This record gives sequence, C-alpha cells and structure tokens, in this order.
Amino acid sequence: MSDAKKKCVDAPPEVKYTKILINNEWRDSVSGKTFPTVDPCTGAKICDVAEGDKADVDLAVAAAKKAFALGSDWRRMDASKRGRLLNKLADLIERDREYLAKLETLDNGKPYSDSYNADLDLTIKCYRYYAGFSDKIQGKTIPVDGDFFTYTRHEPVGIVGQIIPWNFPLLMQAWKLGPALTCGNVVILKPAEQTPLTALYVGSLLIEAGFPAGVVNIIPGYGPTAGAAISEHMEIDKVAFTGSTEVGHIIMQAAGKSNIKNITLEMGGKSPNIVFADADLDYAVEQAHFALFFNQGQCCCAGSRCFVEESIYDEFVKKSVARAKKRKVGDPLDPSVEQGPQVDKEQFDKILGLIESGKQEGAKLECGGNRHGDKGFFVEPTVFSAVKDNMRIAQEEIFGPVMQILKFKDINEVIERANTTSYGLAAAVYTRDIDKALTIANSVRAGTVWVNCYDIFCAQAPFGGFRMSGSGRELGEYGLQQYSEVKCVTIKLTQKNS
Ligand code: NAD
Ligand code: MG
Repeated sequence: MSDAKKKCVDAPPEVKYTKILINNEWRDSVSGKTFPTVDPCTGAKICDVAEGDKADVDLAVAAAKKAFALGSDWRRMDASKRGRLLNKLADLIERDREYLAKLETLDNGKPYSDSYNADLDLTIKCYRYYAGFSDKIQGKTIPVDGDFFTYTRHEPVGIVGQIIPWNFPLLMQAWKLGPALTCGNVVILKPAEQTPLTALYVGSLLIEAGFPAGVVNIIPGYGPTAGAAISEHMEIDKVAFTGSTEVGHIIMQAAGKSNIKNITLEMGGKSPNIVFADADLDYAVEQAHFALFFNQGQCCCAGSRCFVEESIYDEFVKKSVARAKKRKVGDPLDPSVEQGPQVDKEQFDKILGLIESGKQEGAKLECGGNRHGDKGFFVEPTVFSAVKDNMRIAQEEIFGPVMQILKFKDINEVIERANTTSYGLAAAVYTRDIDKALTIANSVRAGTVWVNCYDIFCAQAPFGGFRMSGSGRELGEYGLQQYSEVKCVTIKLTQKNS
C-alpha cells in the first residue's frame, strides 16, 4: 500500500466548501435553507450544504450575464489564455488529487482506488484535452457565389446551465466544464444533491486558477427546484444534462416551453454485451463482470444485458457466478475492496425492488439478491440467468450490481434483440471473428460500440446516445459543437479584380 493510501485510510477528508458559488464568492442560499449530504457507507450525515433554488439561480444568471458582457475580461481574454487557465485548473486538481479522491469516496461511496485511479485520471485528462482546444476553435472561409467574402466564426453559446449526476461527480463536471469553458461560455452548474462536495471544492480551484468572477457559478440543490429553475430560465441559452431518461424528458420540455434552449442530454441505457462462442471465454467473463459491476453498477453504459451464445451459455453463467461471488464488497477506503455502497437509500431500494421483480418473473437468481451487511446501502453482487427479454430486469435500467445473462442462438437473432429497446447508449461484442465483430458494430443502434473490450473512455473519443439515451455528443472534437454557435459573416466586395 502506498503512503497516500495508508494516509487516506487513517484520516477522513475535511470538508471545506459547503456554500453556493456565485461571482467567485461563497454565499448562503437566499432562502437560508440547507440540505444534508450523507455517507452511503453508514447513512449518517456528512454535513449540511446550502440549498439553492430559483432565487439563487437568478443571482447566478445575473453574475454570468455580466461575465459574458461584450468587453468583459472573459470575452476579451485571449483564447490561448483560456487554455492556460484550464491547464492551471488541471494542475490544481492534480495537486489535490488525493484529497479530491478521498472526498469523492466519502460522498459517493465508490472505492478510493477507483476514485484516485479512474475518476481523477480521466478528470485531469479531460480538462487538459479541452485546454488544448481553446486557441484551435476555427471557422472556415467559404467560396459563395458572387462578389462576396464569406467566413464563419465559432462563437460561445452564452450562458450555459449544466445539471450533473452523482455516479461520477468530478468526471461529469469535467465533461461539462471542459468543453463549455474552452469555447468561452459562462456556466451555472448544479451538482447532484447526493454528491455536491467535490464540485464545490473544484469551485475553489476555479477561483485559484484565475477564472474571472461569474464565469462559473455552482449551485447545489434539488432537481425540481434548482434544476428546474435552470432548465426553465428565459436567459439561460443552453442546458446540458446527464441523468435519468425520465428527467431528460422534463428538461427537454422545459427548454421547449421557455426559450427553446439548445440542449445536450446524456441519459440511461440497457446496453447489450454480446459474447460469441469463439471468444476467449475467461477474458469475456471478466470483461462482462467489469462491464456490469464497475462503479457499483451505477454506469449509464453498464453492460446490463449480457447475451451469450447458446453453446457456451452454461459455462459462462457458472464462471460469471464464481467471479461475482469473489467480488469484494465493503469499506471503500480499503484498497482491496472492489465494491462500495450504492449512492443512497432511494437507489438501494430501487435495486432491491428490481431484484424482487426478477425473481417473481421467473429469472433464476444464481447468487446475491440481498443487502450486504446491516448498515449503509451495500447490495450483494447479484447474477440472474434464464433472463427473458420481456422481464423488467431486462428492460429497465437497474443501476446497481445486478447482472442479467440471456441466451442467444445466432447473430441475426441477437442483433434484433439487442436493438429491441428504447435506449441506444453503448454495446459490446466479444469474438475472434472480424466479420461478426464488424456486423455487430454496424448493426447495433448505439452511440458507442466496444469490440473485445468495455468501458474504454478517453477525452478524445465522443460519447452519447442514440434514441432515448441522449441527444448530442460529449467529449472529443464533437463535444465542441454542443458549446458553440456558428456565425456566418458575408462581406460585399467592391473591387471586381480580386
Ligand atoms: P436524476 O435524473 O433525477 O438526477 C440527475 C440530475 O438531475 C441531478 O442533478 C438532479 O438533481 C437533477 N434533476 C432531477 N430532477 C430534475 C428536474 N425536474 N429538473 C432539472 N433537474 C433535475 O437521477 P436520480 O433520481 O439520481 O437517479 C434515477 C435513475 O437515473 C437511476 O436509477 C439511473 O437509472 C439513472 N441515472 C443515470 C445516470 C447517467 O449517468 N446517465 C446518472 C444518474 C442516474
Ligand atoms: Mg430523481
């Protein structure tokens, strides 16, 4: 164990920021209300956090408007300097990596080794990736007909509302702030009520990095109040959301009913993970386990419908059950632990309810199925076999450590079944046959396809959903499109000889 990890086990992180950030100042909410954030290992309160709602969003919009005014420091800042600020932010997150990883684990429950190695690594890389883009956001010159000179500018959208979830709090903040800031927007960000602490700490780093007042405002609070105030606001130009498809509906409607804001949505999934008989079996079992159980099963792209070819089905189930039984559940600060608690009581109850429905609808419960321990929100790693397409556990997003293994006979059948869902976020296929791999990759309706791997994330590669899994793409160069408006300028030329 490294010294860093030893220290982490010994000392719980001190919470330093619990207020609302507006105009680079920490404030109480206008209402004076607060809400508790809890430790999912115990259910005990960690601290109270200022509870923002519409009045606070209005103040943030006023600050953001000023920061975005023509001639402001932010609007006049060299593009290369925006990039330097983002790189500085990445440096500061790197400096405080251990602390942020501890705080993420405390508030969310995910294993410290995941927070430190996965979440923080991807977060830092995301800011650096977008830092590099600041002075490379370029328009075009366009050969229009007639005596005109036409060019495009990629301008910021303006005031951007960002509503993020609790499953990857720091990383979702980076996916949102990175592209928004590199393009020169100003932001009002609402962290999830379950996990506000790391977002607020990053607020202090944004100030330290030198972002001008009002460029990023952070309002902790609940969805139907603070979140709705953002998506309904007449002066917010865009809303970007990650979370449930249910709330995505509400946000899209609010955007339409108010000022037709530009939207980006990243929502649920029921992603097919398809294993052919010619795959490396042990490798496929391990990948399928990771695809589902990583992050306590709380991944929008979890491989939650594992389709296995008939001839290897029984062996695959046996090995998957053995692997799930070996999964170490417990204190997320223990470096050998693979699985911590679910984020809150609501998720815990929802997962146990769906496990019950699986049993009642006739799926075979191979292992798990219960609460783990007697405090906090831990759930046993659970595997169902004999799962049928019409069961709730095969259709609904469980967002917990519950694996569904389904049997298939041939490639055409599995493609059809993989696509029989209203979602379309991700898919994976395991095979040594390039033809099968490409046929699946070309046929599944999903924004991401992994071949012989799962959950490969990188700031350079776009991510997002088909159908009810989303609208627009995050990450990569594609992610910039969601945060810029294209302006087309045409100039009349009077000299006829040029
Ligand atoms: P949610 O969609 O309610 O919450 C996500 C974010 O949206 C939070 O910041 C929340 O405060 C906000 N929100 C909620 N209601 C809102 C509203 N009316 N207007 C504006 N913002 C609002 O998700 P949840 O209730 O925490 O979890 C429910 C389910 O959603 C989970 O079981 C899971 O299936 C799914 N989920 C998906 C993701 C993902 O990464 N795609 C993340 C979290 C949850
Ligand atoms: Mg909700």
